[in-house]
Amino acid sequence: MAKGTLYIISAPSGAGKSSLIQALFKTQPAYDMQVSISHTTREKRPGEVEGEHYYFVSVDEFKQLIKQDAFLEYAEVFGNYYGTSRPRIERVLSQGIDVFLDIDWQGARQIREKMPNSRSIFILPPSKDELARRLQGRGQDSDEIIAKRMDKAVQEISHYAEYNYLIINDDFDLALHDLKAIIRTERLLLERQKQRNEALISKLLAD
Ligand code: GDP
Ligand code: ADP
Ligand code: 5GP
Repeated sequence: MAKGTLYIISAPSGAGKSSLIQALFKTQPAYDMQVSISHTTREKRPGEVEGEHYYFVSVDEFKQLIKQDAFLEYAEVFGNYYGTSRPRIERVLSQGIDVFLDIDWQGARQIREKMPNSRSIFILPPSKDELARRLQGRGQDSDEIIAKRMDKAVQEISHYAEYNYLIINDDFDLALHDLKAIIRTERLLLERQKQRNEALISKLLAD
């Protein structure tokens, strides 16, 4: 069976990663693609659900998981640990299902090394002012945390050239179209189409 594609999506905080991934999944069947749920040591935001947005763990629990080699990658972002757990991703990909990782540039580097067939997408906001407006408009973080995330935005953006694709999230619907176009293109690549349509191709080639 054809293996699923692993997609890495990164952006400065507030650029719209979560919204785009959420909107993508609303229109896409679950058997087709899944989003990976990371472990994090950051505090749960109002409305966030354990096992849906993240697995929320203590620093001690996180360190224990590192020791057990449970993570495909992990990184410290904004003073908290974030990590992608390994077993589920490998299982899902082997079932031919695409997996999406919403992770930072440090994690993206680790994944690229381990899984060279992964594809990576960077999302940019249309301006710094708009990024600040979105972080404030989301209304989920304190002023101090927002300032920290704005400070880190330029650092995250400076890694954009390490990615395969670049999306500017100005008009949301257009950005969502771009994201869908990338996935469609990847699925149409000859190697993947060959694997998926083996039976049809041999029938067409038969005398
Ligand atoms: P979170 O992922 O739980 O943090 O939720 P968000 O705050 O990112 O998004 C909330 C909802 O608003 C989601 O259903 C998004 O699809 C939707 N959404 C966010 N931004 C936009 C936008 O610019 N346009 C439209 N049409 N929908 C949006
Ligand atoms: P991230 O996951 O990258 O931190 P979010 O998806 O949480 O960012 O988006 C941050 C805020 O910006 C949210 O309140 C979201 O609704 C809003 N947002 C996302 N994309 C757009 C857009 N194209 N235009 C206006 N607001 C947007
Ligand atoms: P947030 O706290 O806004 O949900 O996420 C903060 C940052 O951590 C984002 O840049 C996000 O992409 C990144 N992140 C979330 N999960 C992971 C993960 O499992 N690994 C890594 N490396 N980064 C992550």
